[in-house]
Amino acid sequence: MLTNLQARDVATVLHPYSNLATLPRQGTLILERGDGVHVYDTDGKPYLEGMAGLWCTALGHGRQELVEVAAEQMSKLPFAHLFSGKSHDPAIALAEKLKELAPTPISKVFFCNSGSEANDTQMKLVWYVNNALGRPQKKKIISRIKAYHGVTIASASLTGLPNNHIDFDLPIAGVRHAACPHHYRFAHPGESEVDFATRLAAELDAQIEAEGPDTVAAFIAEPVMGAGGVIVPPETYYPKIQEVLEKHDVMLIADEVICGFGRLGEWFGSTAMEMSPDTISVAKALSSAYLPIAGVMIPEWIDEALIRQSEKIGVFGHGFTYSGHPVAAAVALRTLEIYERENIIGHVRGLIPHFQARLQALADHPLVGEARGKGLVGAVEVVADKATKRAFGPKQGVAPKVVALAEQEGLIVRAIGDAIAVCPPLVITEAQVDELFDKLARALDRAEAWAGEEKLR
Ligand code: PMP
Repeated sequence: MLTNLQARDVATVLHPYSNLATLPRQGTLILERGDGVHVYDTDGKPYLEGMAGLWCTALGHGRQELVEVAAEQMSKLPFAHLFSGKSHDPAIALAEKLKELAPTPISKVFFCNSGSEANDTQMKLVWYVNNALGRPQKKKIISRIKAYHGVTIASASLTGLPNNHIDFDLPIAGVRHAACPHHYRFAHPGESEVDFATRLAAELDAQIEAEGPDTVAAFIAEPVMGAGGVIVPPETYYPKIQEVLEKHDVMLIADEVICGFGRLGEWFGSTAMEMSPDTISVAKALSSAYLPIAGVMIPEWIDEALIRQSEKIGVFGHGFTYSGHPVAAAVALRTLEIYERENIIGHVRGLIPHFQARLQALADHPLVGEARGKGLVGAVEVVADKATKRAFGPKQGVAPKVVALAEQEGLIVRAIGDAIAVCPPLVITEAQVDELFDKLARALDRAEAWAGEEKLR
């Protein structure tokens, strides 16, 4: 039975990323307020935010300082843009700060509003710059199966998940998908992580050779794959992949939309995963999700190519009304200052061993085939048979059941296929990590009992 608010919701809001057939029956969890790592529904019931919203509320809720900086900027100059000879201090200061923090040498930052826009911008820059460099045939971009790079036309094409392609007539031309670096699912029997990484690099090499190296411009990768199910590439993967990319003069785009700003215990996931990207997409924790803002960081050689192109054709014809929105930029700058002032990355590093130990302990659960993670992000994958790794049928809804039971326990987690993802705010304490995994373990126990009653095996 839906509440009045739930009924109004499902009658009017077209919900993103939802099963539109079942949602009207199930209703939605309507949240009203947040405080630290907890959110509260309209009945006042608290939930531990085990997903930091959508992998983004790094500092948790209720940071008055961010509210005040937004209000101050709104009073002073609520809007100004960066088009055709205009600028403003919040965007300048934020670009400077990002340059200072970047894991590789960065010349400039292009601002936008979302991870999808950042990755669309990445694709447009790849095309534009290769035209500028006089190699118009070098345009293809290789992403990976199960990658998540967004949902706009270009970024959804880069995303490697069926639901983002089927019936949307995607991917667009010029996008390819390489193998998914998930050892548990895709390694050959007996293949070590290192051997799996070697094979994936050899396969990428063969794929680029087959496409024609002079037609392949870029490879895009999340350091740790997030919305595809939290997939941590095998040991030695990125150094081997990068050797292949360098051989074929293919640039590396790091999609740091989830991993950026501390998630893996470093400022950038690239550092944690031994990647040396040419360009970087950032969003989400950039403003701790208090306001939408994202960015693309570019190196000097791209910057120079863009300038040379403007000498030839004039205006660089790309930019959003809200590129570098002053209120969002001011909030992002203060967010980065808080990360530094409160040593959030040190806090994350201190917590990682406990978080990962509690996560790994779930691997012994009868419902769990694999527990995987890195830093403060992880997932457990439910299986019907631990020995054979056989999955439950998608219609059996086991992972969604775990999520629903966790919700009853007062914990928000997310089902991605058979994986249940956890990605708490970075400010979570050790006691709250225990609360998270105690609740998740109870949800798994209850789901196991339910699977038995329903004879799902
Ligand atoms: N890249 C990655 C790695 C992401 O996780 C996401 C969002 N989950 C995006 C891009 C897209 O970001 P947005 O939803 O802000 O467009």
